[in-house]
Formats: sequence, C-alpha cells, structure tokens
Amino acid sequence: MARCFVTRQLPGTALDRLAEVHEVDVWPERLPPDPDELRRRTAGARGLLSMVTDRIDGELFDGAPELEAVANCAVGYDNIDVEAAREHGVAVGNTPGVLTGATADLTFALLLSAARRLPQSAASVLEGDWVTWEPGAHLGYDVHGATLGIVGRGRIGEAVARRATGFDMEVLVHSRSCGVSLDELLERSDFVSLHCPLTPETRHLIDAGALARMKPTAILVNTARGPIVDPVALGRALHEGTIAGAALDVTDPEPLPADDPLLSAPNLLVVPHIGSASHAAREKMAELSVDNLLAALAGEPMPHAVT
Ligand code: NAP
Repeated sequence: MARCFVTRQLPGTALDRLAEVHEVDVWPERLPPDPDELRRRTAGARGLLSMVTDRIDGELFDGAPELEAVANCAVGYDNIDVEAAREHGVAVGNTPGVLTGATADLTFALLLSAARRLPQSAASVLEGDWVTWEPGAHLGYDVHGATLGIVGRGRIGEAVARRATGFDMEVLVHSRSCGVSLDELLERSDFVSLHCPLTPETRHLIDAGALARMKPTAILVNTARGPIVDPVALGRALHEGTIAGAALDVTDPEPLPADDPLLSAPNLLVVPHIGSASHAAREKMAELSVDNLLAALAGEPMPHAVT
C-alpha cells in the first residue's frame, strides 16, 4: 500500500478504486494547496494525482524522494517540469482523448456565442432593453460558410474541424508538421481557434504582430492555454478594433482578477477554464488519472504516459 496525495476532490467514483489499494489523502478545499502545502503533503507520498492548477517542479521532486508517479488530471501538462521528473525517475501521465469532444463542443459554443453576440444580446433582455425588433441591432457574423483557422492539428483541433464541416465552413490548419503557414492562416481566417499545447515555442504565439495579420472582422477563440496569447496585445487589439472579438476559456493569469485590464476590452467573452467541464469528461479524466497511478505504483508502464 502506497501513500497518494490527490490535490482536489474529483467527480465520480474513480478515487474509490485508488483507495481500495492505497492510502489516499485528498485535499478537501475549493482552492488548490499552495506550493508549500503541496510540497508538505507530497513529501512521503509515492503517488501524486495533480491538476493544472498545481506547479510540479524540481523543488517538489527534491522534497519527495519516495515519489514514483504523477498523474495529471488533464491532457495538457505544461504545469509539470517533465525533464525534472525524468531526472528524478518519476513517471508522468495525462488524460488524452476523453476530453476531446467536450473541449471541441465548448470551442464551438464560444465561437458561436462570440459571432452572434449571445452574451451582449442576452444581457440586453435582462437589462430591459428589448423594446422592439430592430433591423440593425445585435448584428453579428455568420458562422456558416466562414473560414475557420485551426492552430494545432491534434485530437481537439481535428474534432473542431469535424464540427466546422457541419457548418459548411472552410477549414485551414496550421501545425508544425502540416497545413498552411501561421501567417496565411491568420490572414485568411474569419475565426482563429487555438489548439496547440503551451510550450516555449507557442508562448505568445498570438502577439501584436499576429493579431495585426487577422481580419478586422475576425474572432479569436482560445480553449488551449492562456499564455499562447499575449493578453496586453489582445486587449489593445480589441480596444482598437484590430480584430472583431475574442472568446477565451483560458487566460493569463488564471483566474483573471475582476479588475484585470483585459476584462474592460470590448467584444470579449471569458469563461473560467471549463473546456472539459462536462460530467462525463471529468469523470473519465479522473478514471484515467487513477489508471495511470495504479499502473505506475504496481511497477507497470502508465497507460497514458507523457513521453
Ligand atoms: P494533441 O493531440 O497533442 O494536439 C496538439 C497539436 O498541436 C499537435 O498535433 C501538434 O501538431 C500541434 N502543435 C504543437 N506545437 C505546435 C506549434 N508550435 N505550432 C502549431 N502547432 C503545434 O493535444 P490535444 O489533446 O488536441 O490538446 C491540445 C491542447 O489543448 C492541450 O495541450 C491543452 O493545453 C489544451 N486543452 C485545454 C482544455 C481546456 O479545458 N480548455 C481541455 C483540453 C485540452 P504538430 O506536431 O504537427 O505541430
């Protein structure tokens, strides 16, 4: 029996399976453990089930000599220093695939909401401003027939592309291994949707120069990771009308403080990192995380190892 620290309570019954075999310590609070608490609870543990909100770095590994496995309850693992894990002999796993559909659905929800100005028009009803049908009010942009540019043609990018074909959209893709150049994608797209991982190469991939290449009628959607977009440049582009709008599931920082200057930008829709937040997806993510921990603690390869 190994001691495992789980940094948040999880939906579903996956943790019961872990607790049948191992001693499980689950962080009970709504907010994540701070770095000191995370180090304290992980010291002496052989397994760690972490979230995107946990910074897993060399210092944590130094203080947890018995740690054998980190199972991240997410497909992205930019919160983990994978190189430091390798140096410390700690296996790292993630949860690919089971959140692809949920995240692609949310991407389309954001795209449609921003294009057709759902937040603004719904707010006008609550504010008592729906006084008549107006031919020139609440005008947005057509999604059907428009060109969608997908940056990062992986599982989620492909799933978004499949949804786009149902809307008769033309789809452009840009990845390192295939598709058009990023500049061409930015210049031709009516909607630009980000689906690449956060890496040193993609940090601020969408900066002032990239935003300037987009059409003034274009909308940026980010359900990947916040720091892929330069928030200062995005705020300026929205204020100056360089682009028509942005819809973000992820921001930099997260959470975005209520007084963050970006939130004063026009035509901006922000939701609190809910890409995978369907009952089914979150329960499957918990199951995969537990599968990864159980395998690693039994001395077997993780079924979903980060390489
Ligand atoms: P994936 O299957 O690994 O796809 C990512 C794709 O990005 C890869 O196919 C890769 O293709 C491409 N890529 C990598 N570096 C690139 C670069 N520098 N420029 C352009 N493309 C690049 O991953 P996924 O499952 O689709 O997930 C994608 C990301 O979405 C995750 O890393 C995560 O951060 C984010 N995510 C967010 C949520 C949420 O809640 N909002 C939920 C799930 C996932 P090439 O090798 O051809 O470049």
